[in-house]
Amino acid sequence: MHELSLASSLLDIVHGYSLEHKFKKVNSIKLSFGELSGVNKDSLTFAFKALAKGTIAEGADLMFTLIPAVATCCACRRNFQPPGDIAECPSCGSQEMYLSAGFDELKLLELDVE
Ligand SMILES: [Zn+2]
Repeated sequence: MHELSLASSLLDIVHGYSLEHKFKKVNSIKLSFGELSGVNKDSLTFAFKALAKGTIAEGADLMFTLIPAVATCCACRRNFQPPGDIAECPSCGSQEMYLSAGFDELKLLELDVE
């Protein structure tokens, strides 16, 4: 299960910070991930809460920011929301495009600690 290993490395990072910055409790953790990364935030939260029991991150809230997918037109370089069924640039009508954002893996943005 992908989320279990993500939760486990997240906990490792938080633990590392706690040694470095000497905090005793984590209130919340702000994270971001790309729309196309395949991260399931519910599974991740569930796995994290289970793993965090008995650690300084026990009871910490996870807050997620979703980074939306972006498509870029090869012809006019315009960025736009990836189209659903009609794969065509809204600006120039080209059908040549690629996905240029939204793949980001889980990233730790901010820790709220005591
Ligand atoms: Zn275009």
